[in-house]
Amino acid sequence: MRRVVAAALLTVFAGSTAHADVTEADLANDAENTTSVLTNGMGRHLQRYSPLDTINKNNVKNLVPAWAFSLGGEKQKGQETQPIVDDGVMYITGSYSRLYAIDAKTGKEIWQYDARLPEGILPCCDVVNRGAAVYGDKIYFGTLDAKIVALDKKTGDVVWSKKIANFKDGYSYTAAPMIVDGLVITGNSGGEFGILGEVQARDAETGELVWTRPMIEGHMGTYKGKESTMTGKLNATWPGDLWKTGGGAPWLGGSYDKETDTIVFGAGNPAPWNSWLRGAGNPKGTEGDNLYAASRVAMDPKTGEIKWHFQTTPREGWDFDGVNEVVAYTDRDGNKRWATADRNGFFYVLNREDGKFVNAFPFVKNISWASGIDENGRPKFIEDNRPGDPSKAADGKKGEVIFAVPSFLGGKNWQPMSFSQKTGNFYVPSNEWGMDIWNEPVTYKKGAAYLGSGFTIKPIFEDYIGSLKAVDPDSGEIKWEYKNSAPLWAGVMTTAGGLVFTGTPEGEFIAFDDETGEKLWSFQTGSGIVGQPITWEQDGEQYVTVISGWGGAVPLWGGEVAKKVEYLNQGGTLWTFRVPKELASAN
Ligand code: CA
Repeated sequence: MRRVVAAALLTVFAGSTAHADVTEADLANDAENTTSVLTNGMGRHLQRYSPLDTINKNNVKNLVPAWAFSLGGEKQKGQETQPIVDDGVMYITGSYSRLYAIDAKTGKEIWQYDARLPEGILPCCDVVNRGAAVYGDKIYFGTLDAKIVALDKKTGDVVWSKKIANFKDGYSYTAAPMIVDGLVITGNSGGEFGILGEVQARDAETGELVWTRPMIEGHMGTYKGKESTMTGKLNATWPGDLWKTGGGAPWLGGSYDKETDTIVFGAGNPAPWNSWLRGAGNPKGTEGDNLYAASRVAMDPKTGEIKWHFQTTPREGWDFDGVNEVVAYTDRDGNKRWATADRNGFFYVLNREDGKFVNAFPFVKNISWASGIDENGRPKFIEDNRPGDPSKAADGKKGEVIFAVPSFLGGKNWQPMSFSQKTGNFYVPSNEWGMDIWNEPVTYKKGAAYLGSGFTIKPIFEDYIGSLKAVDPDSGEIKWEYKNSAPLWAGVMTTAGGLVFTGTPEGEFIAFDDETGEKLWSFQTGSGIVGQPITWEQDGEQYVTVISGWGGAVPLWGGEVAKKVEYLNQGGTLWTFRVPKELASAN
C-alpha cells in the first residue's frame, strides 16, 4: 500500500507515470503482499504459495482469459519465465535473452529489451531464461552469454551490464537473479563444459562485484576484490587436479531466509560425468565425494562465507545435479525446515538453522542407484548401478552399460515445486523415467563438452512419465498423484483458495483440488507449458498468469522420450486469467 501511495505522490509531483522504488522491506514482504510479485518463488522462501482465496475451489470453473501476449518473431523455443508484477507492470523474460515490460491490466507492451547475443554461445539445454529480479528503480536479468544486466524499469534502458564469466569457456546464465539487502546474487551455468561453479554478489546500484564463492573445494573466494577464504580444503574430497575443472554449476538461483540471514544455492554435477576419473568409483575415505558438487550450500549473504552444506549425491555418477530449489517452510509441529526434491529421486528435509539432516524419502518409483538414505543423510549406494569403468573394458573405451532410475534429467528437474501453508504438503512436479548410461574416456578441453558418458533416456511406464504429487514432508506419504503422458517441466503454485496450478507439455494449464488432486479447471494454451505460474490481485480481482512455449531440455536430451513428444508445437504466449468480479461472488 505504501508503495502505491508513494507512486501516486510521485505522479503528482513529476507530472508523469512513475513507479516507486522497490525496497528490501518490499522483497521481505513479497510472500504476504498480494498486489505484487517481486521475487522469484513468490517470496524468497520459494514457497510459491499465495494467501489469495478470491479464486477458490467453488469458482475456479469461471476462470477465463483476460489477455494474451505474444513474444513474437521466430525466437521461440522454451519459455520458462516466472513473471514479476510491480506497480501494475508485468516483467517477463523470454528465450534468447529478451525482457518485456507489459501493462498487467491490459497486456499491452510498454517496452522490450533484446540482448544482442554474440556468435558461439554455449547453452547446454535450450535458450531459456527463468525470470528477472526487481529492486530500486531497476529490473535485472541474466543473458545466455553469461552477463547480468540492469535495466531502468521505466524505460528498458541499460544502466549497467557485467560479465559473470567468459561464454567462450562454456559459461552461460539462465536463472532468475536474487536480491538480498541491495546485492544482486547470481550463480552460473555450464556444468557440462568443465567450468567452475560460482556464486557472485554485486552492488545492485553499480554492478560492482562484492564477493564470489566458488562451489568446488580448493578454489579461493573473494571479498571486495581481495581473496577471502578457500572453499573447503584442497584435495580433501577430490583426487589430483580434477577440482580445477570440477563443475558444480549453481545454475538455478537461490533462496533466502531472513531469520537466519542465510542464502542457499544448489551446486550441479561434478565434472566430468565419468565418476571413475574423480575417485568416486573406488573411493579412499572421503576422496571421491567431490565437494561441493551435487550439494546445497548455505552462505552469508553479506560475505559469501559458507555456513553449512548438505551433499545430496556424494560420489555422483549419474548427472544428479544438486541444484534443485531449497524451500524454507514451517512444518505441522512448528519446526522450521528446509526441503528439497533432488534430481536423484529423494526428497530431503533439513533443519533451518544449521542445515542438519532431518529426514529423506523417495518421491519417484524404482530408484536403482541407492537403496535409501542413511541416518546421516548419505545414500546407501547400490554399487552395481554405477556405470562401469571404461578403463576396465576390453577395448578400454566403453564401460559397462547400466540402466539407472531416475534418468539424468531427474526425478525432478529445475521445475519448481510449491509448499501450501494451507495443507502443509509439497506439490512436486516429478518424472518417472530411467536411462541407459555408460562411461567413456575424456580429457578436458576449454569450451568443449566434458562428459565421458553416453546415455539414452527411456520411459519406465507405458502410460505416463510426468507425475504431479502431493507429498507430506513429515511422513513421506504421497497423498495424491496426477499422471501425465509427457514429462512435467513447469512450475507449480498453490493458493489459500485450495488450488494447485501447473501446466503440461501438451499445453493444458490446470487447477487441481489441493486435497484430492481432482482436476477442477483447465485451459489449452496452444503450446507446451514449461513456465511458472503466478497470481496477484488488482482492483479487487485475482489474476493468474502463466507463459506457454514448448522447449527446454527434454526435446534436446530426452532420447526415446524426446521422440515421443516430437509432435508438440513451439510457441511463446503469455496468458493471463481472471474470474470476473460478478462470477467470483456468485460462485
Ligand atoms: Ca548436469
